[in-house]
Amino acid sequence: MGLSMPAGSVRAALAEVLLSSAPAAESVGSRVSRIHQDLLARSPYIRTANFTAIHPGDLAFLFDAYDREFLGGLCRPALEGIPVGFRLSPRMTRAGGKTILYRLPSGGSKYEIAIAGSMLFDGFRENDRRITVCGLECRDRLEALQRIFEHEMVHLGELLCWEKSDCTAARFQGIAARLFLHRAHTHDLITRKERAAASGIRVGARVAFHFDGRRLTGRVNRITRRATVLVEDPDGVKHSDGVRYKIYYVPIAGLAVILEPPGDSEPPGPAA
Ligand SMILES: [Zn+2]
Repeated sequence: MGLSMPAGSVRAALAEVLLSSAPAAESVGSRVSRIHQDLLARSPYIRTANFTAIHPGDLAFLFDAYDREFLGGLCRPALEGIPVGFRLSPRMTRAGGKTILYRLPSGGSKYEIAIAGSMLFDGFRENDRRITVCGLECRDRLEALQRIFEHEMVHLGELLCWEKSDCTAARFQGIAARLFLHRAHTHDLITRKERAAASGIRVGARVAFHFDGRRLTGRVNRITRRATVLVEDPDGVKHSDGVRYKIYYVPIAGLAVILEPPGDSEPPGPAA
C-alpha cells in the first residue's frame, strides 16, 4: 500500500480495514494509550489528562494518530484532497461529537469533525459521578475525548467508503466494536441540563436573576445552553394560563433558585 495507489483503491483498502480489522483487546489498549501519551507529550494545550485547555490542533493530531495506529494511514489519502477541518463546539449540549460533509457552493466539499468542548469541561469535576462514553468508563477528560474521537473516525471512514454513516446501524457498530472495543454508540457525559438540575434549576423552578440592573423573578421553561425563563409582564405574550410573559435567556450560572412548596410547577405554554 502507498501513495501510488489509485484513489478508488485507497478507499477500497480503507473499507477492507474497517470491515475486517479486529486487533486483540491488548493491542487496542496499547495503541490507545500510546496516542494518549503522545498527545500529552506534544500538545501545548493538553498538559494533563484532565486538561483545562484544548485547541483544534489537538484534534488534527488525534486524526493523524488514529489514522496511523488503526487505519493503516489510509484515511488521509482516501480523502482525495478533500479538506477536513476540526472544531471545538461550545454549543453542542447533547452530542459529544459530529462529523459533517459539507457540499460547498463552489461544487467542492469539505469534512468537519466537531467535538463538544463545553461538555468535556463540564464533566470530570471533583466528586462527579462516573462517566461512560461509547459504553466504556472514562477516568478523565482525555479518555472521554479519545472515545468521542474514535466514534467520529468511524463516521468519517464510513462516509469516505460508503457515502453514508449511521451509528445506530449494524455496520457502524461492528466497526466500532472491532477496532475500538466500543460497546455503545452513546455517552452519558454530564449535560448542562443535569448540572442545572443538580443545582435545583429545572424546568418549572422559580428563579431570580438580574437583567439591566433590575432583579426579575420567573419560572424556568426550557434549559439548553442557557435557561429560558418566563417572567410575568403586561407587555409580554399571552400564554395558555392567560398570563402575559416575557421570555429571557439567562446563563444558568446567573440564576438563583427560589425555594417554594412542591406542586404548581408546570410551566405554561404559549397560547395557541
Ligand atoms: Zn454517531
